[in-house]
Parts: sequence; structure tokens; C-alpha cells
Amino acid sequence: MEYTTCCVVGGGPAGMMVALLLARAGVDVTVLEKHPDFLRDFRGDTVHPSTLRLLDELGLGSRFAELPAGRLERMRVHINGTPVVMADFSRLPAPYDYIAMVPQGDFLDLLAEEAAGEPTFTLRRPVTVTGLLTSGEGDSPRVHGVRYRSQDGTEHELRAALVLACDGRDSVAREAAGLRPHEFDVPMDVWQVRLPLPPDDSRGIVVGHFRAGGAAVSMDRGTYSQVAYLIPRGSDAQRRALGLDAFRAHLSELLGWSDDVVGAIRSWDDIPLLRVRMNRLRRWYRPGLLCLGDAAHAMSPVGGVGVNLAIADAVAAARLLAPALRERGTVTTAELARVQRRRMPATLVTQRTQHGEHEMLLRPALDGTLTKVPTPLRAVGRSALLQTVTAHLGGKGLYRERPPVFARRVSVPPRP
Ligand SMILES: Cc1cc2nc3c(=O)[nH]c(=O)nc-3n(C[C@H](O)[C@H](O)[C@H](O)COP(=O)(O)OP(=O)(O)OC[C@H]3O[C@@H](n4cnc5c(N)ncnc54)[C@H](O)[C@@H]3O)c2cc1C
Repeated sequence: MEYTTCCVVGGGPAGMMVALLLARAGVDVTVLEKHPDFLRDFRGDTVHPSTLRLLDELGLGSRFAELPAGRLERMRVHINGTPVVMADFSRLPAPYDYIAMVPQGDFLDLLAEEAAGEPTFTLRRPVTVTGLLTSGEGDSPRVHGVRYRSQDGTEHELRAALVLACDGRDSVAREAAGLRPHEFDVPMDVWQVRLPLPPDDSRGIVVGHFRAGGAAVSMDRGTYSQVAYLIPRGSDAQRRALGLDAFRAHLSELLGWSDDVVGAIRSWDDIPLLRVRMNRLRRWYRPGLLCLGDAAHAMSPVGGVGVNLAIADAVAAARLLAPALRERGTVTTAELARVQRRRMPATLVTQRTQHGEHEMLLRPALDGTLTKVPTPLRAVGRSALLQTVTAHLGGKGLYRERPPVFARRVSVPPRP
């Protein structure tokens, strides 16, 4: 039977980053990914200052700077027409003073190419993990590896000292381990829309538009605008039944963009639905298995934090687990618990902040009761200091995950 020290289920941001770092530590690591490539449209593409700094520390900054990227320096919202600056990233110390908007597929290709240079790294795709190899009864069976299906339909087993469940918000590995996340109530789902850049002053800015009866957020992607149009949770079919013309008209009114710009929407097929979920595991691990990223905690899209938290989880896991995997070839359950203890506060605070924004702004906009600028936002809008604080918390997070020494590479000059 095949064996690897660490089996990573899923090659998303969490899986590829933890695999790269473990491989740099000399740990034998195998990633199993169900898709044949990393092409992803409209996933989390927001690379925050914390991740930009990490990439420099890993020696990947100059390659990352070559990827096609939009650059976001501020977040402004219009609440019933009143503009409020919510966060000013350009006030953070350079060069980590903006959010890069990079297609997630390009970012993952970069991590995969870099990891491929390490002799202990293997990426297998397309293969689908279907279950776990376990022993023992009761609540906490020990995990010894995974079952997976290759493209020709044949079933395989891969034994491992540690399985990292990085297979996202519908994690099969998590389910097979009997771990169930607690789901939080969210007010919205999201339609993702790609539009031409409007001739206005929104270059380099995230602009939110909130008013009684509607909410949308537009992001400058350099060559186009990505618009997240919020709909009440579970109302996708009902809203689509109102017709495309009604949608275009509402979007045009909400954003203040011309009919020409929103006329670029040709069919409902252009508008994928993101079913928003916000959840969190109470316990992220079983003996022999640890969940990271969305598998441990699906985030609301508010603030575009999903990718960055997934990467921070990966860095913490590699830093805390690589020494044991390298020296003993195994990890204890107590060591897995340390990773959860390290990452839980950041997850908790971020989800509470997102919940606060849902209730203060998003829900009232969607249910038609938003009448004025909420007081805390009014205060932020009036204070450059508070706009720096919100940029710091949003862009850098509650605390920094430093890359382990074994993973660092020669630093690169700061990007211009
Ligand atoms: C449709 C969609 C749109 C999103 N839009 C936004 C957004 O606008 N802003 C934002 O901040 N966040 C967004 N997110 C969330 C963001 O993409 C995630 O938070 C982030 O990618 C989490 O990284 P991850 O590595 O934990 O999981 P994921 O990125 O979900 O990666 C999981 C990986 O596991 C693989 N996989 C799954 N099951 C198996 C299996 N059984 N066997 C093998 N491989 C498997 C998947 O193919 C995938 O590559 C979106 C997510 C989705 C699903």
C-alpha cells in the first residue's frame, strides 16, 4: 500500500500553502486534488497585506508581482447615498499597503510550481478523496490515511501519519471523521457579476452600495469590475424569475452606473450564485487528522478574508507540526490541538466582526429597514485614524503568522 508522511486533501490556498511549507521542511507530503487544474472564476481572489508580506518572506514576492493583479487601496461605502470611507489600506506601512486582486488559479499555480521544486512534494490530480482509513471505535477513531478514486474510476488507499483536511467548505474528509461545523445564520447569498469598468472615480477602490432594498459591492479588477450583488438568503430562484431586465435596472440604479455598463450582462448564465455560509468546527482535529481553512471555518465573503485566513492556518500548522513530522514521522493529538488553539482566536474575532456587519448593514439593506448611516460607521467615516485601524485589522488580521525559518528564502526587494 502507498504511504506518505502527510496527506493533504484538497489543493486550494490552505492545502497548497501547507504542502509547500512542509516540503520545504523536508517532510514527505502528497496533495490529492479533485480538479485537473486550478482554474477558478470568482473565488476568493483578495490577497491581503498579511499574505503579501508572507510571500516576500517565502521568497515568492517577485514572482507574485508578475501575476495579473488589480490593486485596491481603500474601501468606501455609500449608505443611502452618503459616502463613508471604511478602511484606508494606503495608510499602512509600505510596501504592504494595498489588497492585490489576483485570480486564485494563478496564485495556486505559483505555489504548485514552487512546491514542485522540492523533492518530497507530490501533487496528484485529478483524484477524488472518498473516505478515510481509520481504526478504533467510538467518538475518536484514529485516522491512518485516505481512500481516493482516480480518473479511470479505480479505488486506491494512501496511508499517512497525518491527514490534513483542506478540502473546503463541503469537506469530505471532515465529514468522514465525524466532525460537524456549527452553522451561523447569514442574511444573504451573492450573485457574482463581471462588468466593464465604469467611467467613474472607483479605480483602486472597493465600493459598497447599501440602501433600503438593495446592496452591492464593486471591486476594481484592473480590466473589469467584479460586482457582488447581494440577495436575501435562499431567494435565488425567486429573484431570477423577476427577469434579467429588472435585475439590470436595479443594479444600474444601485451602483449609479449607466445602462451601457450593466447591459454587458447578457444572460443568467453570466451570473453564478455563491451560497454564503458561515460556520466553524468546535474541534478541528481527530487523532491523525486536522482540518484547515474553509474545512474548519467557512467565512462570510465580507472583507474578502477567506483565502488569507486559510493561508494563515496553513502557516501556523506547518510551523507547529513540521518539526515533529520531520523528526518523529508522526504528530500527537496534543500537537494538533495547539494548531487549533493558535488559530481559533483569529477565526472567532473575524466571524464576530462579519456577523456585526451583517446585522448592522447588510440585513437592514436587504429587508428594507436601512434608514441612516449606522453610528459606528459614521465614526469611522470621520476619522483617518479609525480608517487606518480598520485597514490594519482587515488587511493584517488580529496577529501575524510568521513563516517558519526552514521555509524562508532570500528576501526580495519591496515591490514598487
Ligand atoms: C464559489 C465560491 C466563491 C467564493 N467567492 C469568494 C469571494 O468572493 N471572496 C472571498 O473572500 N472568498 C470567497 N470564497 C471563499 C474562498 O475561496 C475560500 O475561503 C478559500 O478559497 C478557502 O481556501 P481553502 O483552501 O480552505 O478551500 P478551497 O479554496 O475551497 O479549496 C479546497 C480544495 O479542495 C478540493 N477538493 C474538495 N473536495 C475534494 C475531494 N473530495 N478530494 C480532493 N480534492 C477535493 C477542491 O477542488 C479545492 O481545490 C468563495 C468560495 C466559493 C466556493
